[in-house]
Amino acid sequence: MRISDMGMNYLSLSIRDVSSLLKQKTISSLELCNAALKRQNAVAKLHPFITHTPDLARESALHSQKRYDRGEQNLPLDGIPVAVKDNFCTSGIPTTCGSVMLQNYIPTYSATVVRRLQKAGAVIVGKTNLDEFGMGSGTTDSTFGPSKNIYRSGVEYNFLHPSREYDNILSRIPSTALENGDWYVTGGSSGGSALAVASGTTFLALGSDTGGSVRNPSSYCGVVGLKPSYGLVSRFGLISLVNSLDVPGLFGRYVDDVATMLSVVSGLDPQDSTSVSSDLQNLKLPENPSLDGLIIGIPREYHWPGMSKEIVDEWTKVADLMEDSGAQVREVSMPHTQYSIICYSVLNPCEVASNFTRYTGVGYGHRVSASHSMEAMYAFTRSSGLNEVVKGRILAGNYFLLRENKSKYFKQALKVRRLISEDFSKVWASGVNLLLTPVTLSTAIRYSEFQNLDNRTQTATQDICTQAANMAGVPAVSIPVSLNTEGLPVSLQLIGQWGKDPAMLSAAKWVEQNVKFPRINILE
Ligand code: GLN
Repeated sequence: MRISDMGMNYLSLSIRDVSSLLKQKTISSLELCNAALKRQNAVAKLHPFITHTPDLARESALHSQKRYDRGEQNLPLDGIPVAVKDNFCTSGIPTTCGSVMLQNYIPTYSATVVRRLQKAGAVIVGKTNLDEFGMGSGTTDSTFGPSKNIYRSGVEYNFLHPSREYDNILSRIPSTALENGDWYVTGGSSGGSALAVASGTTFLALGSDTGGSVRNPSSYCGVVGLKPSYGLVSRFGLISLVNSLDVPGLFGRYVDDVATMLSVVSGLDPQDSTSVSSDLQNLKLPENPSLDGLIIGIPREYHWPGMSKEIVDEWTKVADLMEDSGAQVREVSMPHTQYSIICYSVLNPCEVASNFTRYTGVGYGHRVSASHSMEAMYAFTRSSGLNEVVKGRILAGNYFLLRENKSKYFKQALKVRRLISEDFSKVWASGVNLLLTPVTLSTAIRYSEFQNLDNRTQTATQDICTQAANMAGVPAVSIPVSLNTEGLPVSLQLIGQWGKDPAMLSAAKWVEQNVKFPRINILE
């Protein structure tokens, strides 16, 4: 690593590199924290954060600095800036879920994942923007306003490892989207977290993935986004959307960084009965992973109508690259994948209807007082505290769960979910180790185009390649692989067997090393 090449831009380094600089005292934890906070201001107009936590960040950076000064060097994320999606409870810090309902809510406890990050020395720099309660795929439906993609936003960047091909793209494309008012969406619902990482305000970020909310924005913002196996990472303190599908997800610029984060946050939590024990505490991916002996499946059903040619081309290119490098690549069939959108559109509202009964204005959050009755107070509170998308899902869920409808919709959807999950089991049983698929049908689209479709239709379009992995509880990771001719990131997804997250991440690291995605370096 040559620091001089990076214009002393510590915020673009990998965790391993920046940690070694912290150990050598080339920089201090406080300096790194201040650089991250300064970067937050530089990109504030893109709106990655809902809440900034500079005082708390400086305080933990100082603690970290003292540990380095004392020569204590064994915390895996000591001094590393990390951002947290604003649907994870953070003790003493507002946790809004991007909603009026919780805009004044300050939890008295922190999510297990947040506590584990802090215990590992991480410096929490803020809470990131999201679609209200995680319902969306653009980060356009937050009560605090949308997040805007850094690509082509007008914020200046060059590439970390310059190559003529990409520099030509950069010089050719106009990057005035913010001034035009027609910027590119970040994807969602964890768009703030993806953007926070892409723009270098933080090295890592927490998100949540119920149907694709980590992988979708990762793919649009050119970062690595992991949805771990269901149960591997505790959901305690993650405000529930769909308990049976929700998974805390991890964002980073490098696969190794995400693996380090996984080693810190994973494992049994007595406060989450769906969590499992793991032995990933010392997870370290191989320096040079190999594909020898791996069988990669290409599910033909993921070739959806409407998928852009550049995505299909990249998919083919990377599959060929893997085949030429020792993997066996074969086409597989997952016939029930096509039903995942419809199945999700029943399961999601059913669990939402049940989860959202807690927002009454009594226990916490927003309250509208009504003197005449308790019921009126509930009704006014819910009607003014939740957006149309949330209210629509509550209504739909209650309809699906009516006594006369339950077997027709909810129970039927559970059966379809089982079939979708069995497609995965069958493919694994045939010897396939990993699946390679696209993440989205296209690269990031402009806000004006995104707004042409309503939230429900967007979810049906955006999540088409991501939801099935949630249905089956298997791990999946989005990896940026190239820039298209407009200079926007193209990403691909690897899906693995339940509990085999490390093997999947090793293959992701192989892809990362071989595609050489041009990471951006923000110029200030
Ligand atoms: N687009 C999906 C939805 O709106 C994704 C949700 C998620 O993964 N949090 O439900």
